[in-house]
Amino acid sequence: MRAVRMTAPGVLELTEVPTPQPGPGEVLLRVGAVGACHSDLHILDAAAGTFPTPMTLGHEIAGTVETPGPGVDGWSPGDRAAVYGIIGCGRCRACLRGEENRCRVVPLGGIGLSRDGGLAEYVVVPASRLLHVGDLDPTQAAPLTDAGLTPYHAVELARPRLRPGTTCVVIGIGGLGHMALQILVATTAVRIVAVDTSVAALDLAGRLGAHHVVQAGPDAVDKIRELVGPPPDGADVVLDFVGAQPTLDTARQVVATGGQLLLVGLAGGTLPVRPVADEPPTVPLETSVVVPFWGTRAELQEVIALGRAGRLHADVQTFPLAEAPEAYEALRRGDIHGRAVIVP
Ligand code: NAD
Ligand code: ZN
Ligand code: ZN
Repeated sequence: MRAVRMTAPGVLELTEVPTPQPGPGEVLLRVGAVGACHSDLHILDAAAGTFPTPMTLGHEIAGTVETPGPGVDGWSPGDRAAVYGIIGCGRCRACLRGEENRCRVVPLGGIGLSRDGGLAEYVVVPASRLLHVGDLDPTQAAPLTDAGLTPYHAVELARPRLRPGTTCVVIGIGGLGHMALQILVATTAVRIVAVDTSVAALDLAGRLGAHHVVQAGPDAVDKIRELVGPPPDGADVVLDFVGAQPTLDTARQVVATGGQLLLVGLAGGTLPVRPVADEPPTVPLETSVVVPFWGTRAELQEVIALGRAGRLHADVQTFPLAEAPEAYEALRRGDIHGRAVIVP
């Protein structure tokens, strides 16, 4: 079969590999669609040894069951499924609570992270990773598994502060951010301020229900403070889907006293935290900082329910498998709006 693999750090290639066979408890899935996540670029850019090579990339997967392996119950050929990408140890304190995204044994274990992913015609996954998606098209189901799940989990973590009438600043309206806006609209009554460098992303944000849009730049903090109030007031919650130095600096300067910063993006910035009350504080008093990772299987089921109810819809640009490397280059240039989805 054809597969797009990271053959060495930084190298992404279309290759021919044997079609894998499902072992006990596993399923061979025919890939219907796989989302191109910005994290794949971070995986490609990571130092040698951080991730296995060669490895098929792609951790945002939906498709149809081709062959259930020995001992698999409840899945038949032709069943449509989305893949929960995390594979925790299953035995630690976190995994036993269903929080595999907090596994204390294999913190980055997953499909397309520590074993072959879905940028291929077929992928083998543990049957326990599959969730039914009904008649959702795979190009819609795939983005739910990460671009949908990760912001959903972040919003769940912030939910006690997302009271009606509070304000949430969302930075980075790309694959994850444009889903975050819809999740906020569907599940809260907060006022939303969307921030991005790209005018096209801000247009999309407006269409998806953001109440205010602010173009990122040197005056972004002032413009956001006009909307959310100056310190010690500010945004109750800030979701940063970029994580670069400028966005982290913006985030900490617009969050309210007692607010919450959720740092989802992995662009390499640093958030200084110094517990002082005098000026200039690095973060306001009583601020809480969270570094969310992906989400739980139970949350994915809820995200799929939102998708099936028509409340969460990925804005997708599709590419054939052979053009996956071009799709990632477009993502790196900032030329993808919503989510790039590869259809093998
Ligand atoms: P994306 O490329 O689709 O979207 C990024 C958006 O941020 C784009 O709209 C871009 O214009 C905007 N942007 C870039 N620089 C900016 C800046 N300085 N100020 C404002 N906006 C800016 O990426 P994505 O797939 O949505 O992923 C977003 C980030 O989240 C990545 O770093 C990715 O690795 C990370 N991620 C984290 C998790 C997790 O579990 N923590 C899960 C998935 C993705
Ligand atoms: Zn991802
Ligand atoms: Zn575990």
